[in-house]
Amino acid sequence: MPSEFEKPYDPKTVEPEIYKKWEESGFFNPDKLSSKKSKPFTIIMPPPNANGALHIGHAVFVTLQDIMTRYQRMRGKKALWLPGADHAGFETQVVYDKKLEKEGRSRFKIPRDELWKEMWDFTEENKKVMENQLRKLGASCDWSREKFTLNPDIIETVYDTFKKLYDDGLAYRDNRIVNWCTKHQTTLSDVEVKYIEKKDPLYYIKYGPVTLATVRLETKFGDTAVAVHPKDKRYKNLIGKEIEIKTLLGPTKIKVIGDEIVDPEFGTGVVKVTPAHDPNDFEIWKKHKDEIPGPRSVIDQYGRMDLSAFIDRENAKKYHGLKVMEARKLIEEDMQKEGLMEKIDQEYTHTVATCYKCGAILEPRILPQWFIAMTKPIGKTKKSLRDLGVETVKKGEIKFLPSRMEKIYMHWMKNLRDWNISRQIVWGIRIPAWYRGKEIYVGKENPSGEGWEQDRDVFDTWFSSGQWPFAALGYPGSKDFKNFYPTDVMETGWDILFFWVARMVMLGKYRTGKMPFRTIYLHGLVRDKDRQKMSKSKGNVIDPLGVSELYGTDAVRMALIIGNTPGNDVVISEEKIRGYRNFANKIWNASRFVITHTKTPPEKNKVKYASKDKEMLKKLSNTSKDVTKHMEQCRFYQAAETLYHFFWHFYADKVIEEMKERLTFEDGTAEKETAKALLLEFHFTLMKLLHPFMPFITERVWQELNLNNRTLLMIETWPQP
Ligand SMILES: [Zn+2]
Repeated sequence: MPSEFEKPYDPKTVEPEIYKKWEESGFFNPDKLSSKKSKPFTIIMPPPNANGALHIGHAVFVTLQDIMTRYQRMRGKKALWLPGADHAGFETQVVYDKKLEKEGRSRFKIPRDELWKEMWDFTEENKKVMENQLRKLGASCDWSREKFTLNPDIIETVYDTFKKLYDDGLAYRDNRIVNWCTKHQTTLSDVEVKYIEKKDPLYYIKYGPVTLATVRLETKFGDTAVAVHPKDKRYKNLIGKEIEIKTLLGPTKIKVIGDEIVDPEFGTGVVKVTPAHDPNDFEIWKKHKDEIPGPRSVIDQYGRMDLSAFIDRENAKKYHGLKVMEARKLIEEDMQKEGLMEKIDQEYTHTVATCYKCGAILEPRILPQWFIAMTKPIGKTKKSLRDLGVETVKKGEIKFLPSRMEKIYMHWMKNLRDWNISRQIVWGIRIPAWYRGKEIYVGKENPSGEGWEQDRDVFDTWFSSGQWPFAALGYPGSKDFKNFYPTDVMETGWDILFFWVARMVMLGKYRTGKMPFRTIYLHGLVRDKDRQKMSKSKGNVIDPLGVSELYGTDAVRMALIIGNTPGNDVVISEEKIRGYRNFANKIWNASRFVITHTKTPPEKNKVKYASKDKEMLKKLSNTSKDVTKHMEQCRFYQAAETLYHFFWHFYADKVIEEMKERLTFEDGTAEKETAKALLLEFHFTLMKLLHPFMPFITERVWQELNLNNRTLLMIETWPQP
């Protein structure tokens, strides 16, 4: 026995050695597993963003997915856990923008190719760090199949999907009002908009014969109509007429229209229509195109007033170029001076759309963008992408864990709108659309002929990651796709149910005709012991690699799994991790005791189990059954907890204690040989059961147990059928 085993357990030296053994064995690759193992089990890893180190949220998914994979491998399945990394388009662009800012640089001043090269190197570096962190956390994923979302084969699949959507009439380019972040200089999809409650002054302004209420005073220069409810008696006689109004830029005329979207209860029942700067007004304009002028933009892409169209008017220069909020204040003062302000309600609370990354208030803009039609029938069929997403779940082809998430998913699907997939950033897969005059060409290659120019935008990163399960498996022609798709489980955070999960279901079904996964397991957020969200500013962040280094990865994994039920928050603290470090030490000490006393294997013909022994063994077998049942039902938290208590309070405290006296008997006595056999039976079974949760220490102990030619614990057979 190497002397190392006689010392206290030292995860720092044990873990890298063990991981190396696993990796060198080749068993992470399902093709290398015994051919008897024929049924596949597949998890596609949600590819972490290659823009920083892994955080505690990543450690949750690594733990859960590794438990599932190790368990199924021991169950005899050809287990594939396919790792990957995500270029993470906008998210990485945001991280990189911050880095540039710190260096006093700006992405808007760096040539596209140069910036791309820089960001490529940046993500490559991060990828390497991440891969090693995954190893440190014990991830038994198949590195030989690792994918990056910018691999050429992945890009090709994404291009093919886009082309198919275009040919089916689902991908289209349109000039529409879209969500625009003035800081990040890009559009965002509807799910990337964060709505917040905000208190702002509500201005009641005089518009000729009427008074109307508005918060966004500065947009009044872009008004092209005034709207009332068609049945509102107060204003019925004005509908269809032009009213003369006095404005800060001089007198003008504006038409009054009737539209049912106007709420007669809001303000005075009259609203201004500013189609260039408000999505609802844009819709109103579309309905009244023949009656009123089109959108008139008065705010530029940086959120500054752009009154170029009025620059010959008196006063226009005064507001031109001001930031929106500065302009609002000045306009308020000027309108008051001019007697155009009736009153101001200072206590008005409303919902404001902000950028989910920087918190800037979004300025809607009209831009030509690529959209995916979500509710339009696909090609000549009668079903839309939404129908595919709804139907798959309704038919029970996908199981939600927790089941309540299914309702949330369905509700979201109901309100689905077309998806803007164009982003005005460099970091991403460039949209394969070419333009020449009014001609559009969509395809992988640059079209032949002169004068074609490629779209400058890149895809929303979720458009490519929405195709991840089939793209990562090499759809359509690969053997892997045939063998491992549909996958068994997708495990991810519930916070990206809409961003990612729903899109994977729809796009997976659309491209392959099959759902991408059979079970969707959604975990919650990680919180500290006071149930606070972890954040750098609160100083309560736990770095998973740091605590692994301190207490051992097995302890961290146990702390992350116990009490972790699907869909609910995971509470973690250093005390909790320390508790499981103590458990690892308990396992180590118990193992040392058992191994020391079983150096010579039990003489089989001397083993005679008394009825009390049989009772103990029965308890072991019942626990093994319970744990298996929990595993099958994805109740990993319960399986782990059961094992923890059984090992500590029954096996270590009672069984081992009980055997101690018998082990003092002479070699060859029934007492001693039976005690040895019983302890080994317990130990073999418990190391196997604990392996998915605490892979390092159990594998290390396994090497010391008296085993003839047994190989790695990771490919041992699970104790229950
Ligand atoms: Zn932003």
